[in-house]
Amino acid sequence: MAKRVDEVLRRLKIAAPQPGQSGQPEPAEPVCPKCGGAGYICRDVPLGHPYFGKAFECECLIAKREAQAFTELQELSNLVDFRHKTFAAFNAKAVGVAEAFRVCSAYAEDPGGWLVLVGPVGCGKTHLAAAIANRYLALGGKPFFVNVPELLDHLRSTYAPNSGVSYDERFEEVRNAELLILDDLGTESGTEWAREKIYQIFNRRYNSEAPTVVTMNPREYGRLDERVKSRLQDAAISRVIEMRDAQDYRQRKARRR
Ligand SMILES: [Zn+2]
Repeated sequence: MAKRVDEVLRRLKIAAPQPGQSGQPEPAEPVCPKCGGAGYICRDVPLGHPYFGKAFECECLIAKREAQAFTELQELSNLVDFRHKTFAAFNAKAVGVAEAFRVCSAYAEDPGGWLVLVGPVGCGKTHLAAAIANRYLALGGKPFFVNVPELLDHLRSTYAPNSGVSYDERFEEVRNAELLILDDLGTESGTEWAREKIYQIFNRRYNSEAPTVVTMNPREYGRLDERVKSRLQDAAISRVIEMRDAQDYRQRKARRR
């Protein structure tokens, strides 16, 4: 049987994993009773049946691949560090956050248009933005969560250090994201170049009415590029939520501990 599966794998041009290849003993996983750990099964059909001799992926392999795809998506979405920032982990009873919590929760279920969260440092807006992304990811969507100053730094260098993805590809990935979350939009990196990049992102998102979430503090909101501001203020596409009365969410949380 094992030999058979090896042959099948060769035919499928899928490399069979070599045991202990990494030099580290693999953690003991329960062996799948259906395929004995091979990942593929042959159906019990008579000779001549179209399925005879064909290898089918076992459900354990499918489940494993789905779990891997989810982790990869989480990495691609830049959500690994923010994976615990969920709606369930958010204190919705805190002062001044109720409306934002309600709107963000609803938005995550079916993102449409733009959502702009304006509030002071520590009001919980980043948590809510990440919660939207996490929920959307859990629903099978592909969010892209990005901190704006980091994005600009990233774009400035021609190539992403780890991914090998070129600047153009990265920029297109951001502009065309299914659901884009831009955390901490501001003017601090206010070079002409950065302003242009930000404008290009918003212009594309505006023209294609692509779901977009933005967080920023009120001071930065007042100083935005007029071209971006006019789009953010267009009520036909954009909803601005001011978390004006929210107190410092992180400090309050720390005090509670
Ligand atoms: Zn199996």
